[in-house]
Amino acid sequence: MARSKKEPKPPADQCFAPCQGAKEIAHKLISKYPEKFGEIVTAHILYLTKIGGVIMRGEQKAAKIEKVSGQKKYLSRNAENDQAGWDYIVTISAEFWDIAQDQLKERVVFHELKHTLKLEKDDGSTDFKIVPHDIETFIDETEIYGSGRDMTDILLSLTNLDE
Ligand SMILES: [Zn+2]
Repeated sequence: MARSKKEPKPPADQCFAPCQGAKEIAHKLISKYPEKFGEIVTAHILYLTKIGGVIMRGEQKAAKIEKVSGQKKYLSRNAENDQAGWDYIVTISAEFWDIAQDQLKERVVFHELKHTLKLEKDDGSTDFKIVPHDIETFIDETEIYGSGRDMTDILLSLTNLDE
């Protein structure tokens, strides 16, 4: 259930929870589209929901992805990522995830995965980076899921809930 706006927001570190659903969708997409996502099959990606939404540059977003490196990656080493640390963290609005239909959830995960890219370095090692958008979104994404008005509508309705 969506949280009521009247409930106080938990402390920042308690706004996050693992998002098993997104992880499962990602695994499905990576095997369904090896030509798009084959290179990131070895990336360790953490999927979280966040209470209070995901704000980027002042706008409410369904989700965001960030690359993890350095100290943060070191501190994130655990059994779930084979003691390698996370390469990426995908953070999804908990309020969005509560109300979105399956197709839209899949689209959002697809979109965030499209931001990933594996880099082969000269010394033979590999690294990952964040890819910017093709346009305002990804052409691949619109070919599969359409133009995205439905996502915008849900985000607008979430924004209105916050008033
Ligand atoms: Zn994006």
